[in-house]
Amino acid sequence: MLQHSFIKSNPEKQGLYGLFPEEIAQLFSPSTPFRGRQVFDWLLKGVDSFEEMLNVPKQLRLKMSEAFEGNPFTTSVTEQQQDDDGTVKLLIRLQDGLYIESVLLTDEEGRKTACISSQVGCAMGCTFCKTAEMGFQRNLTASEIVEQFYHLSRIAGNPSHIVYMGMGEPLANIGEVIKSVELFHYPKGLQISARKITISTCGLVHGIKTLTEELSIPVKLAVSLTSADNEQRSVLMPINRRHPLPILHRALKSYCITTGKRITLEYVLLGDENDSEIACRELAAFAKDLNAVINIIPWNPGAENEMHFNEPSQQSISRFCSLLEKEGLRITRRYRRGRGINGACGQLAGKSVSD
Ligand code: SAH
Repeated sequence: MLQHSFIKSNPEKQGLYGLFPEEIAQLFSPSTPFRGRQVFDWLLKGVDSFEEMLNVPKQLRLKMSEAFEGNPFTTSVTEQQQDDDGTVKLLIRLQDGLYIESVLLTDEEGRKTACISSQVGCAMGCTFCKTAEMGFQRNLTASEIVEQFYHLSRIAGNPSHIVYMGMGEPLANIGEVIKSVELFHYPKGLQISARKITISTCGLVHGIKTLTEELSIPVKLAVSLTSADNEQRSVLMPINRRHPLPILHRALKSYCITTGKRITLEYVLLGDENDSEIACRELAAFAKDLNAVINIIPWNPGAENEMHFNEPSQQSISRFCSLLEKEGLRITRRYRRGRGINGACGQLAGKSVSD
């Protein structure tokens, strides 16, 4: 299995949930590799003490308990909230005292999607996003990413899908994100199918290239576009100054051709900002030669920086969507789940901002 890790993450710095059985064995019991498998199987059950690992020798349990201060998890849930629409949001404390948020969304068909964070805060500075206000604090380890799944699972039921759409920019932490994808997908582990895992990026071109050329697990790719006008996008999403639209477009085209897969273009609809007929035509022109579906996300309030945004009216959402359909584009509309608990898209902020 380890041969799949094309970007090396650092096993010594991981919690146990960020390790494959072989790595657990290498760290704690190199002469008896099967012990790694035994420990891994207990972790799969979500045990929260080493004493519960009954078929593991006491000596080894003690050794691990010392290394991890008695708890196989490096993170803990300190608050949970549930919205009327069933959305559950968790506030999770990391070992160094920082906080992240994770959300579980349940749709009409009963599908449960874990929306997980990849960083504490975010460096990308998208003007309409609450997480951006925190600035960047640090990358999460693979273990901290995987542990979010287990916490959500225990509190709100087993997620069937995973989206990297919580706090942070996943492609700016690509080594740990890929390791976590491998762990989610691992045939002797959680076995989440690649088509049920989506990585969402603000458009880091080198990361998209890495996914195109090197990722052996065909996860889905979503790109937050939000404007197909280069100048406007640079104002709304500063990353566009480094990776402008023509370069992003080239990378996406190459992704679609090389992988044969469809991408999602996420478009946060900002009232009176990017919801005009011209904006729609620009979006259609950008998407035309990509194998893409457009996901329309009505803006959720929360961010309070110098730019002021309006929520789009129902009328303008419907008008924009039907214009896109007339242009021949495939679209999906995202419903506003989790807003009652500030758990919708772009509203996650951890503790330092929500306090
Ligand atoms: N950094 C990644 C993933 C996190 S954001 C990315 O940019 O894709 C997840 C999604 O929420 C993105 O599509 C983002 O554009 C969107 N989003 C951010 N703030 C929002 C807000 N206030 N309302 C609605 N969607 C928002």
